Amino acid sequence: MLNLVLFGPPGAGKGTQSNLLIDKYNLVHLSTGDILRGEIAAGTALGMKAKTLMDRGDLVPDEVVIGMISSKLDNNPTAKGFIFDGFPRTAAQATALDNLLAEKGTAISAMLSLKVEDEELIRRLLERGKNSGREDDKNEEIIANRIQEYNNKTAPLKEFYAAQNKLSEIEGIGSISDIAEKLNEVIDSI
Ligand code: AMP
Repeated sequence: MLNLVLFGPPGAGKGTQSNLLIDKYNLVHLSTGDILRGEIAAGTALGMKAKTLMDRGDLVPDEVVIGMISSKLDNNPTAKGFIFDGFPRTAAQATALDNLLAEKGTAISAMLSLKVEDEELIRRLLERGKNSGREDDKNEEIIANRIQEYNNKTAPLKEFYAAQNKLSEIEGIGSISDIAEKLNEVIDSI
């Protein structure tokens, strides 16, 4: 199986690049942000609880997102592989993901980490916020909180995957197709 963690701060282009990669490599896209927004749209109790945290730019509890990923893995037994987008975001999530994949006799193949400076992230997210309808894209304070959550809790996961020799860092500035090409090169070398 080809199991990729597409990593980077909010606004790095993880969703955009995931959509290109799923077609090229025939993978299942698992975005915890998308799954949570689906729960909110469906008006579930989980969605309502998560919304308060998401609208502030805070992370939702580990057990919630780990449970969601676990059931998605169970529901896709014939997948050739997965792209994890926006997951894992904490050390507990990374460990849980390794364990869930090990139970299925597989593992993460690579972490592809997109590098983009804060100023550019803020610009992109505010631009996206004009049309995304997302509360967390609308306001610079909330965006700053999301970036802070990333720096404090999520960025250290690069070390977790580097220790497994699985980390590749890719410059996330440039055209979508240029960045896609760089990702493809790394994936093809796995
Ligand atoms: P995203 O679409 O990845 O930018 O995620 C939007 C929001 O959903 C985040 O700011 C968090 O509130 C929540 N979220 C998404 N994925 C996770 C995760 N793996 N762990 C905790 N919270 C998450």
